[in-house]
Amino acid sequence: SGYVAIVGRPNVGKSTLLNRLLKQKISITSKKPQTTRHRILGIETDNDTQVVYVDTPGLHVDEARAINRLMNRAASSSIKEVDVNLFVVDGTLWNDDDELALKYIKQSNLPTILFVNKIDNVKNKEILLPHLQLIASKHDFVEVIPGSAEKGDNVELLKEKIFGLMPQGDFFFP
Ligand code: GDP
Repeated sequence: SGYVAIVGRPNVGKSTLLNRLLKQKISITSKKPQTTRHRILGIETDNDTQVVYVDTPGLHVDEARAINRLMNRAASSSIKEVDVNLFVVDGTLWNDDDELALKYIKQSNLPTILFVNKIDNVKNKEILLPHLQLIASKHDFVEVIPGSAEKGDNVELLKEKIFGLMPQGDFFFP
């Protein structure tokens, strides 16, 4: 099985996306191989592949404060413990917090998928697409997928890409 960290600032649509990605909700019991740094959000199995979605502690933009630097370090080490990062941003609102999250994601050196959410709300798609291409060229994501967690646009595609990046075998059952 493989671990996917869902990374992104509050309100970009991470929970909405996760609900779409998980066909069935599994309530986790105490037997799960929970790591101290991760909270397991859900598990999905498809044929011979299993995906474990975990969250990460938040990243904090104001690095002038020592407590924020500490929390950022915790977040960045937790990003390192997974197989794939799923970095979710709001396509209608890219900001400095996203840039900071990216800095930590980059340090992890792990394959990272960028999901640009809420494209159903993007008025000017002619501006968004070149912008996405620029972001994608600056950072090497394994995939850049624009979509909508709410409407379900491109969520199946995202899921295929995630499963394709998972290591085989090594299952566990909650
Ligand atoms: P989280 O804090 O990252 O987990 O974000 P949530 O999943 O709670 O979503 C934050 C808000 O964005 C909610 O009001 C959602 O309904 C809304 N939202 C999530 N995904 C989409 C989307 O694809 N399109 C639009 N228009 N709104 C979305």
